[in-house]
Amino acid sequence: MNKGREPGVAEASAAAAQRPLVGNFIGGRAVAAAGTRRQPVTDPASGEVRADVVLSSAADVDAAVAAARAAFPAWAAVPPLRRARLMNRLLALVEQHKRELARAITLEHGKVLSDAVGEVERGIEIIEFACGVPQLLKGDYTEQVAGGIDNWTMRQPLGVVAGITPFNFPVMVPAWMYPVALATGNTFVLKPSPLDPSASLMMAELIRDAGFPDGVFNVVQGDKEAVDALLQHPDVQAVSFVGSTAVAQSIYETGARHGKRVQALGGAKNHLIVMPDADLDKAVDALIGAAFGSAGERCMAISVAVLVGQAADRVLPQLEQRARQLRIGSGLDDASEMGPIVSEAARQRIRRAIDAGVAAGARLVVDGREHAVAGCEGGFFLGATVFDQVRPEMALYREEIFGPVLSCVRVDTFEQALQLVNSHEYGNGVSLFTSDGGVAREFARQVQVGMVGVNVPIPVPMSWHGFGGWKRSLFGDMHAYGEEGVRFYTRQKSVMQRWPDSIAKGAEFAMPNARG
Ligand code: NAD
Repeated sequence: MNKGREPGVAEASAAAAQRPLVGNFIGGRAVAAAGTRRQPVTDPASGEVRADVVLSSAADVDAAVAAARAAFPAWAAVPPLRRARLMNRLLALVEQHKRELARAITLEHGKVLSDAVGEVERGIEIIEFACGVPQLLKGDYTEQVAGGIDNWTMRQPLGVVAGITPFNFPVMVPAWMYPVALATGNTFVLKPSPLDPSASLMMAELIRDAGFPDGVFNVVQGDKEAVDALLQHPDVQAVSFVGSTAVAQSIYETGARHGKRVQALGGAKNHLIVMPDADLDKAVDALIGAAFGSAGERCMAISVAVLVGQAADRVLPQLEQRARQLRIGSGLDDASEMGPIVSEAARQRIRRAIDAGVAAGARLVVDGREHAVAGCEGGFFLGATVFDQVRPEMALYREEIFGPVLSCVRVDTFEQALQLVNSHEYGNGVSLFTSDGGVAREFARQVQVGMVGVNVPIPVPMSWHGFGGWKRSLFGDMHAYGEEGVRFYTRQKSVMQRWPDSIAKGAEFAMPNARG
């Protein structure tokens, strides 16, 4: 047998030919792609290649947009109450298939199953929100703005809209977009991450099974080529993007240049400030969960602990102990608290960031670089990593690492902590642990960040409040979902109306007819 040597080119391509193909979903069914490029889809816990995903060409994008465009007029004309009823059916189906979706997430992303179930549940909340679309689309009305004239506003759908989503929430982040987009009468083309593409097809099937007409929801797998085709497509009216800041900015600029409405959510470096008067046990729990949950691959992960005054010497020993005790293993193992990193490339990038932190002089308290997991030798694991004495000028502090690395910064006062947060280029999420209501209130008022937690580690807003960061964590005017989402996916029309003839005629005693 081949044990002990790498497979040759012929063997590797024979193995690839046997693997399942993750393709597109267009016009209500799975379709073969015109694009010929493929990318392996890997189980990060074992390193095993599970499938290949097609990387769609511009022709594939064209087909998806054409299907969405054809479906739009009839879908936009469906009364909102009937669209809401379909959304209700989808809600029931996603609930029913929650565990299958979660398992698909874990197999391709790596996060632990309970976390994947939580992700699906947060997606379900947006579907629930979209079930209320008749109320959300209600317009304004002013009677008698002048003699015999009334004025009202209504919100109408845009047409074909696109969603481009990251690897880290393959079910939840698309669900920030399509439930609101569809409920408000748009048709949708989703371009998921090629790292974990399978859940998108499962969602497409559930949407079809719920009774949404063919072409209302479509999926094109792929990479930059498909994204560029969407951004340049004349029939795409709006683009919602979630991913890293460099790509978010370029999508915002390119989309705007092509006349599209764009919301582009980018990267993050979220701080959690611990005041000396905080409940320190709860603060440590919060830091461990928020820094290492999902291996730190969350846009709302806490990657910086700002330890104020005496909090530092009391929190750090606990953080060290808890980080060392973290149970790391396959996401399918119920005992695991943290799974692998999504890919070998990401693991290497995170290792390099840790190396650079050491070289810059930060104190490495817990080193996760060489963490091995018995039975998962091919997996992309890292251990939890904790740094102390991190300074604002270090890349470790400035740059998003997107891995299980917690940087502790020591400051003397609350004002210094606030200044630190407000000076950072990112402004996605932030949290403060304190027992002082006055400090908490000032913090919420003054902090330059879009989503704020007080004694809450990951303040992801509920579906009716909307999600979005500030500064370089979001390009565009509107946050995702909530009422901002409804505004993003609709445009306002104002109607002013007068019927002077009907008043001028006075009372009529004959039945109205075509001549009258
Ligand atoms: P990414 O930017 O690499 O990819 C996001 C999407 O863009 C994917 O669909 C990808 O295929 C596509 N893409 C990648 N490079 C592209 C390019 N050059 N041109 C056009 N399209 C391109 O992000 P990721 O690694 O999948 O996800 C992690 C990032 O997403 C982190 O930075 C994280 O903070 C961010 N994120 C932000 C939020 C938020 O709400 N702000 C939420 C989740 C993730």
